[in-house]
Amino acid sequence: MEISEIAITNENWVEAVRRFLEQSPDSLPADMQSMLTEAIDGSHTSLPPRVFYEAVRQSAVAISITDINANILYANPAFTQITGYKADELIGKNESILSDKRTPKHIYKNLWSTLLGKQPWSDTLVNRRKDGERYVASLTIAPVLNHHDEITHYLGMHRDVTKEHRLAREVKNNHELIESVVDTAPVVIALLDEAGQVVRKNKAYHELRKLMAGAEPIDKLFSNNSIDDEEYKDYEIRIDSGGGRAPRWFSCSCTRVDEVDTSADSFFESSKQSYRLLIATDVSDTKRGQEAVRTNALRALMAEEELVQSTRETLAGAIYQLQGPMNLVAAASNMIDRRGSTTNMESIRRVLREAMDAGAEAMNKLSICMPEAEIETVVPVNINELVHDALAMNTEMFLTNGVVVEWKPTAILPNVMGREHRLRGMLNHLIENAIDAMSERGRKIRELAITTTADEDVIAIVIDDTGAGVAEKDRLQVFQPFYSTKGMKGKRAGMGLTMVQDVVSEHSGNISIATAPSGGCRVEVMLPLAGIQDGGES
Ligand code: FAD
Repeated sequence: MEISEIAITNENWVEAVRRFLEQSPDSLPADMQSMLTEAIDGSHTSLPPRVFYEAVRQSAVAISITDINANILYANPAFTQITGYKADELIGKNESILSDKRTPKHIYKNLWSTLLGKQPWSDTLVNRRKDGERYVASLTIAPVLNHHDEITHYLGMHRDVTKEHRLAREVKNNHELIESVVDTAPVVIALLDEAGQVVRKNKAYHELRKLMAGAEPIDKLFSNNSIDDEEYKDYEIRIDSGGGRAPRWFSCSCTRVDEVDTSADSFFESSKQSYRLLIATDVSDTKRGQEAVRTNALRALMAEEELVQSTRETLAGAIYQLQGPMNLVAAASNMIDRRGSTTNMESIRRVLREAMDAGAEAMNKLSICMPEAEIETVVPVNINELVHDALAMNTEMFLTNGVVVEWKPTAILPNVMGREHRLRGMLNHLIENAIDAMSERGRKIRELAITTTADEDVIAIVIDDTGAGVAEKDRLQVFQPFYSTKGMKGKRAGMGLTMVQDVVSEHSGNISIATAPSGGCRVEVMLPLAGIQDGGES
């Protein structure tokens, strides 16, 4: 704003009119002049009248003085310059000479009701220059009152603010464009201020919030404990929303962005406001493809592991079976040794020794053939992922047996330190047991519900089925080797739950069997987050 403009807007307008009349007594019609003179009380100000007149005349703001009907009595050079009319084309004309049809009627209505209420009025409207060009005018009109508090004149002041309007519009358009791009972007976007408050979030963010049952995605997606840097990219996170829905994967990134402060405080000394821009891209489709390949690989791996395990069990069984007759042969040989040597006995003794040597050699060969049990490395393991793997590996069984699965994972589960294959195998076995239990003929309701929950240091996995359940008296026995309610027909001949308990114990956890709400079996596995410490034995 120019100095002249400031001087005039701050001036008492009644006083200003008085000075104007003193300086240019002949520029107004006689009646106007006398009326205005009457309104002036003769008081004096410290400024010489000439200064005031020049200030109005030289002002860059278009200034006009009208009678009570808005007929122009005076217009300064800025007024003629902005409107394109010469002074003599304006004097005597109504201010409506500037009006444009685009200005809504209610604005004029408000203008006049405010002025008639003896109050100054300000607003922005569209004016037309003499050549017909429209411009945006920021207009202020003040009523001039006489001693009797009657309106005698109006003082108008306006500026051409077309450029400012265009700039403001452009900024608004850009803002709206950015907003709609951000909102329609198929990525989750959140902007955090320095205090960590979300100052902007897009539609995808709100949708994800719904998916996470109201939990704040910002807390889950971006409170990335495993990354110290404030800026990072391509950090992948998995969200299990349960309810039969497939898990979702997001690739997250965090970037620091600075904004120049627009407040008056930073007018001369610019300062910056820092934000963190968080973006999460849904990479579920890609991940699902990778997962399918991974599930197949896992299936093959588990089949191989099972083969190794059953070979070990078979060989151990064969060695055990051989050990009996071998002990008998050894006992017979000892007996002959004690009875002393005769020619007859000598030949029997030789046969027995040969039988013992052959037996020992056979047992030795069997031991050599026994495949090594591989010791897995301890790594951070996400139990949700393993449950998901085990469910994926059993999809066909669910379909064949008409089992409905209800998967209720905790959206973000902390990792357990453990042996991934062993834990996956353990979960797979529990799921297979549940399917088995529900697959018996005549069982109508076949529902498997799996829940994972976590507190500060323990993860709980609860597997409920709608099978016959396990009788209370059998609940400890089922974990013993070779105990089976199905005789020796089961895949592992009563070794399954023993293996499950081994895995749980090796992870310092515990497992228990109870009755599910449906009356079926509930298996609850508790695994401490610390799991196996490095160097733990398999
Ligand atoms: P008009 O017929 O002039 O007025 C519309 C309605 O306003 C009328 O129906 C009536 O109800 C009311 N009205 C009009 N004159 C008076 C009055 N004297 N007393 C009470 N009510 C009245 N307009 C602009 O478009 N651009 C300007 O830059 C501008 N500057 C102005 C500066 C001053 C000092 C004053 C006093 C007015 C100014 N006006 C300006 C308003 C202008 O006088 C017109 O009212 C307006 O332009 C609308 O014009 P119109 O021909 O559409 O309607």
